Amino acid sequence: MNATDKTPAAPDVDSVSLTGTDLHLAFGRNKVLRGVDIHVDAGHAVTVIGPSGSGKSTLLRVLNRLHEPDQGDIALDGRSVLKDDPDALRQRIGMVFQHFNLFPHMTVADNVALAPRKLKNMSKEQSRALALEQLELVGLTAKADSRPGNLSGGQQQRVAIARALAMKPQVMFFDEATSALDPELVKGILAVMADLARGGMTMVVVTHEMGFAKQVSDTVLFMDHGAVVETGEPATLFEAPETARLQQFLSEVL
Ligand code: ADP
Ligand code: MG
Repeated sequence: MNATDKTPAAPDVDSVSLTGTDLHLAFGRNKVLRGVDIHVDAGHAVTVIGPSGSGKSTLLRVLNRLHEPDQGDIALDGRSVLKDDPDALRQRIGMVFQHFNLFPHMTVADNVALAPRKLKNMSKEQSRALALEQLELVGLTAKADSRPGNLSGGQQQRVAIARALAMKPQVMFFDEATSALDPELVKGILAVMADLARGGMTMVVVTHEMGFAKQVSDTVLFMDHGAVVETGEPATLFEAPETARLQQFLSEVL
């Protein structure tokens, strides 16, 4: 891809593949992940769908080792990361949640600049320039010196995306990033996410937005009770679900 092909929200990405193999995790006697396999090719987007409590958020948290799996392996670019420093892994994976968790007492630009400054030892000027660059990608340069509380939910979520991108991650996770937003703000965030996907970011997106799953993701993974029940290309999965459980789920959400 040459520079002129890039959409505004497509930063320079150095994306890698992500593979989780036979991932297991129990909280006490509650087996939350029961042998999950997930693979995302470099530059591809996988959406994870499934009922509440099926283990989607836990899967993301295991993949970036906020929880250590009881069993299984996690690899980036084909190389296991389980022996690496978990903090080093988390710097390679950007995460955006339902709740933006911005620091209310800091400006938007300072929120975005914080992690690069602290974790990459950037100077104040360097990290400010980087923050402005990332804010431009999400269309929020004008709000750089505002406080998060003066922004709409959609704008705050854009800041959270810019903050994650400022660390130049190789993979991005989104966990119901639009679920807390007013309906009219959802589209804008989905558009930023779609731009990122088109720009070649490796992405795992947990979402209830079936339109996004259909139109943007390369693969959809349907989870229920801690296991992947069905996986495939969106067209196949949505139009010809094989299992009664997916048929049931789709009849409830579509
Ligand atoms: P989903 O994101 O699909 O709604 P979660 O991954 O949040 O599902 O939760 C899956 C299951 O794991 C639920 O039964 C939930 O109660 C349990 N769970 C999640 N996080 C924890 C935790 N930190 N401690 C104990 N149980 C948890
Ligand atoms: Mg969840």
